[in-house]
Amino acid sequence: MKIVGLTGGIGSGKSTVARFFEELGVPVYIADDAGKYLLANSKVVRRKMIALLGEECYVDGKPNKQYIASIIFNDSDKLAAVNNIIHPKVAQHFKRWMKKHTSPYCIKEAAVLFENGGYLNCDYTILVTAPEEVRVSRVQKRDNSTREQVMSRINSQWSDSEKIPLANYVIVNVDLEVTKQEVTKLHNKLS
Ligand code: ATP
Repeated sequence: MKIVGLTGGIGSGKSTVARFFEELGVPVYIADDAGKYLLANSKVVRRKMIALLGEECYVDGKPNKQYIASIIFNDSDKLAAVNNIIHPKVAQHFKRWMKKHTSPYCIKEAAVLFENGGYLNCDYTILVTAPEEVRVSRVQKRDNSTREQVMSRINSQWSDSEKIPLANYVIVNVDLEVTKQEVTKLHNKLS
């Protein structure tokens, strides 16, 4: 089964695009959900997280996301260390998941794909884009966040101009119908 990495900046609509592939019967793996699942359920991850950031990482057995975020978004070494705990586990989990599916290709959706070299493990990559203003208003509507908060998240990610040269396919997601047609065209190419 070929691996097709799917990514896009915040508010670009990568989850929407992933859903369109799913509707066509393509197996979709959502790496960020797997990371959250493993943070909550893997004993190895739990042990390493506590060794790195302290017992406060878990409250009543559940990940204390606010505490973890407050540390890693202010300390890039700690962020890298957390990624080093979680990413290898996600990679293992993904390999096991692949064995359970048969299809010409699967979609691996990840918020970070180019930045960490994850795209090198993919056969193809798809980047979802949308104009910045559109992304800002989508996220503001979804999260009730301020423009400044959204912009700071956008600016913490690689820009589209850095990602476009590394992507095999780019889907410009503005009109949902057009996006759906693009997904169908790509699906026919990849099947
Ligand atoms: P994030 O990285 O922030 O999770 P994402 O790239 O996965 O975002 P989605 O969750 O798919 O983006 O979309 C963000 C919001 O924009 C959602 O509320 C979604 O319904 C809406 N949206 C996505 N694409 C379109 C579109 N073409 N037209 C209108 N709304 C859209």
